[in-house]
Amino acid sequence: MRRYLIAGNWKMNCGPGRTSELLQGIKELSPQIPEAVDVLVCPPEISLTTASEVLNDYDVYLGAQNVHYEDEGAFTGEVSTGMLKEVGCSYVIIGHSERREYFGETDKTVNAKVIKALLDDLKPVLCVGESLAQRKKEVHKKMVKKQVQAALNSVKENNVSDVVIAYEPIWAIGTGETATPEQAQEMHEMIRSVLSELYDEDAADAIRILYGGSMKPHNAEELLSQPDVDGGLIGGASLKADSFTDIINIAE
Ligand code: PGA
Repeated sequence: MRRYLIAGNWKMNCGPGRTSELLQGIKELSPQIPEAVDVLVCPPEISLTTASEVLNDYDVYLGAQNVHYEDEGAFTGEVSTGMLKEVGCSYVIIGHSERREYFGETDKTVNAKVIKALLDDLKPVLCVGESLAQRKKEVHKKMVKKQVQAALNSVKENNVSDVVIAYEPIWAIGTGETATPEQAQEMHEMIRSVLSELYDEDAADAIRILYGGSMKPHNAEELLSQPDVDGGLIGGASLKADSFTDIINIAE
């Protein structure tokens, strides 16, 4: 059975000071992470070392929001998988729609990053999702299928269970508008069938598919109760200790 993963994508929020406060807050409200749930926080790079120190032996995983696919060298502004591991990361978000839209990430770079992360033992949280225009034109399934196929190109079956997929409809990110549980389930089921085609049913069943896009304490229960929704990638609501821990407790 798949374990729930509740992941906080802090985006460009929280320098080291605020990171420390927010994590202390989460620890106080939820000193014991529920048995059935994995919890992940992804602060900005500059705050990863602090986060790692504050988390210490607290049962919460640390992840980054981006990584480069080269090991080192003349890539100004980038960090490598090795550097992320050195500061305690075990996950990395790859291909978030904001990175695709504002920073020129393509299906090709996303694929290279997924391959590199897996090679170096970082679990990729691969983000896919359609725009509002694509949904209106009813090409959302086709688009997301294409993103999944492209991102997993050349990823071998023995590695793929470490991949986490986050389905994030762009129109639901940061807008307060959420996909209905039925819309989420429909897309998650479709993604799982794509995984089944690419690999096999067992592999597809082992892969966690998170929903992202305005997941909040008030809508988390309905979303998380869908059979193919295995957790959430949470932006806004992960920046408050109480709403993040509420969602963790709902997942339990
Ligand atoms: P949101 O962000 O929860 O603020 O909509 C989700 C995300 O972009 O990962």
